[in-house]
Amino acid sequence: MIYPIVKFGNPVLERPAETVTVFDRELKTLVEDMFESMYAAHGVGLAAPQIGIGKRLAVIDVTFKEDPKAKLVLVNPEILHTEGKNRQNEGCLSIPDFREPVTRANKVTVKAQDVNGKWFEETGEELLARALLHETDHLNGKLYISHVSALKRDLMKRKIRKMVKAGEW
Ligand SMILES: [Zn+2]
Repeated sequence: MIYPIVKFGNPVLERPAETVTVFDRELKTLVEDMFESMYAAHGVGLAAPQIGIGKRLAVIDVTFKEDPKAKLVLVNPEILHTEGKNRQNEGCLSIPDFREPVTRANKVTVKAQDVNGKWFEETGEELLARALLHETDHLNGKLYISHVSALKRDLMKRKIRKMVKAGEW
C-alpha cells in the first residue's frame, strides 16, 4: 500500500515519535508499505511520521532499488557516534521542491532494532550518514530546515505559506 506523504505544516512532523514496542506481522507490513511509499515518492529515506504515523521507525535505501542489500530498516534508532563534516544539498519528501545545503557529520554510527526487535549497529558515510541523521531527526520531531540559517528558513516558510494559500501545498 502506498501512503501519501505528509507535508510540512502537519504537527505529526514536529512531534517526537513513540518507541516501537511490538514487533509483529503488522510492523512488517508497515515496513514494506514504507519502502513502497518511499520509492513511489522517489526518495532514499522515509520516517513513519512522514506518512502520519508517530512511531520511531524509518526506512532507507541510498541506492534507490539498485542494491537490495542496501535496504535498511531502523526501529528505535539512536545515534551512537559521529565523525567529520560534510556539506551537501539536502531535501525532504515532506518539503517538496526545496533543497538547501546542510552541514552534517561525514561518518555516523547508529544503534537500532530490526523488524524482529534485534539490536544492531550500522555505520555509514557521506549520503548514508546524512540519511541516518536526517531520518533519526524526523523521529525526534526535527526537520532538516532546523539546520539551515534562520534567514533561509524564514524565507522557505514564507514561500510555503504562499503555496498553502494558493492551494499548491
Ligand atoms: Zn525528511
